[in-house]
Amino acid sequence: MNLGRRSWLKIAAGGTAGLALAELGFGPGEARAATRGLKLQGAKEFTTACNFCSCGCGMVAHVKEGKLVNLEGDPDHVINFGALCSKGAAMKATHESPQRVKAPMYRAPGSDRWVEIGWDEAYEKLAKKLKAVRDATWVATEKDKDKDGNEVEYPVNRTDAIALLGGAQHTNEECYLWNKMGRLLGTSYVEHQARL
Ligand code: SF4
Repeated sequence: MNLGRRSWLKIAAGGTAGLALAELGFGPGEARAATRGLKLQGAKEFTTACNFCSCGCGMVAHVKEGKLVNLEGDPDHVINFGALCSKGAAMKATHESPQRVKAPMYRAPGSDRWVEIGWDEAYEKLAKKLKAVRDATWVATEKDKDKDGNEVEYPVNRTDAIALLGGAQHTNEECYLWNKMGRLLGTSYVEHQARL
């Protein structure tokens, strides 16, 4: 019985603190809660959103010494009330994955490989490309008939070659700015990943 309890605690509480509490006579549930508290002691807490799908489930994250130590559903969030699906529940693994891309990657024309570049270089490349595409595809006016059947040239000031794609983790404010940028660039093609 004692051995079984110790084994269970090793798995459930995942540490020597849990074992020590069990030795002192605390139940497995109490020991588990206490070790969780120790794990999060001194951690900085902030809220965030799951970035896997459009539901936008709220999460609470804990960071200790610059390292993410815990990620769980936010019980106060209006969308999920603390619950997460299997993808959201596994999100911490993607944060820690060695395969996670953390810097801009560039594949030069004709090259067969991606290379890491700096953010300044990436922004410059993007800005230049965006401007070139916008200039090359700009539609200033369009001809159409008015209500009397006369041909009229209307100002439209747009490009059909640029589209913006948003994501589930964007806040209302970010989406507002994203839409503004779309209008400034002259595109009405502003979409969200959830509709694809
Ligand atoms: S937890 Fe699941 S349902 Fe919620 S946003 Fe993430 S992937 Fe979507």
